Amino acid sequence: MDRTRLQQLLARESAEAERRNPRSRAAYERAEHLFGRVPMTWMNKTAGAFPRYLDSARGARVTDIDGHEYIDFCLGDTGAMAGHSPEVVAEAVRTRFAESGGATAMLPTEDAEWVGAELTRRFGLARWSFSLTATDANRWSIRLARAVTGRPKVLVNSYSYHGSVDESLIVVGPDGHGTARPGNVGAPCDVTLTSRVAEFNDLEQLERELAHGDVAAVLMEPALTNIGIVLPEPGYLEGVRDLTRRYGTLLINDETHTFSAGPGGCTAAWGLEPDMLTIGKAIGGGIPAGAYGLSAELADKLLGRADLDLVDMGGVGGTLAGNALSTAATRATLEHVLTDAAFGAMAKLSERFEAGVRAGIDAWGLPWSVSRLGARTEYRFADPAPRTGTESAAAADTELEDFLHLYLANRGILLTPFHNMALMCPATTERDVDRHTEVFAAALAELVG
Ligand code: PMP
Repeated sequence: MDRTRLQQLLARESAEAERRNPRSRAAYERAEHLFGRVPMTWMNKTAGAFPRYLDSARGARVTDIDGHEYIDFCLGDTGAMAGHSPEVVAEAVRTRFAESGGATAMLPTEDAEWVGAELTRRFGLARWSFSLTATDANRWSIRLARAVTGRPKVLVNSYSYHGSVDESLIVVGPDGHGTARPGNVGAPCDVTLTSRVAEFNDLEQLERELAHGDVAAVLMEPALTNIGIVLPEPGYLEGVRDLTRRYGTLLINDETHTFSAGPGGCTAAWGLEPDMLTIGKAIGGGIPAGAYGLSAELADKLLGRADLDLVDMGGVGGTLAGNALSTAATRATLEHVLTDAAFGAMAKLSERFEAGVRAGIDAWGLPWSVSRLGARTEYRFADPAPRTGTESAAAADTELEDFLHLYLANRGILLTPFHNMALMCPATTERDVDRHTEVFAAALAELVG
């Protein structure tokens, strides 16, 4: 690839983004009271000099404050996998909040049991509890796993992401052993005191780490989704289950992103048998909601422990977790929007998206790969597709990614800022996908043609 050409094109697209978005730029420049000028510092992870500001969003469409409409394949990095503000969720939220009233009364509503039963139907785990984020679902699961096993450590895969969970910010270093994830902000202690790490798809390394006998739980995504998509090789997930059982370690599947694989995530699609399962983002249809599930046996064990404070300040739970508004939104989303039938259609669209990307890559013989997990597709600047997180991290190319993101955004298409990822929602259409194929091909023609 001609880097000079890439840099010229990136500069051209950055200038075009500035020309097209004067209001967003002005809003960003005015935002002096925000840490990093944005409501959340990761919103600075955007191609170009400033983020585009949201005006409105419906279904698979977003409109910015400069009046540009986008086909949204980012979908809030999965938070809006149900589409933006689906009518039925909007109605459930309005009814709960405005009509019935009450979001945080510290009293249960009957929606919660409906949601618990539905999560059991989908994922198989028998007992459920709620959070507002996937991060918290992971934090609390880890605490419960340590409590029930009496072991101090957690194991994650290198370059996985499970939210801002202290124990998870560990990678495999150049010497093959665990070390802090680069850039880790204010770690409470050396992460190797709390955590172990193994490469995804590497059962030998996993066994080496579990053999220490101090790992309470393996917290993992059945496919990595936060460093491109890294799919499990045949036999890997069965091997993880065998090893965790053999070494007395609990298995927690984080299905927050892999939910794209189907109505019961990878766990149902691939017949997995985790001891616990965490999920967040999409289930609330855009309203903050997360959940963790555990087996009946584990739940009984934990509830039977008089030494564990599960009802007050013992470290598991949050005041707004399981609130009436979030559970109403989650019920509406699961009952009417992210239904079994919806996932089939979303996966078909995703296949079409994948074929479009592959055609673009093949047309120019680029050494890139494309991977799909149900409704989610992502391409990576490496071929063959990376098989570990570390390999995938090495294939990052920020300039190239920024060029593609800006090129697409300037032509009305949004991808997820942290990825070359495209997610389908129930409102996405074949025309949306074909428009991406067309613009992606045009970007490649300019870049390498
Ligand atoms: N788990 C996974 C697999 C995720 O991808 C993320 C966020 N990208 C999280 C957990 C954390 O989600 P949240 O930031 O909503 O807490």
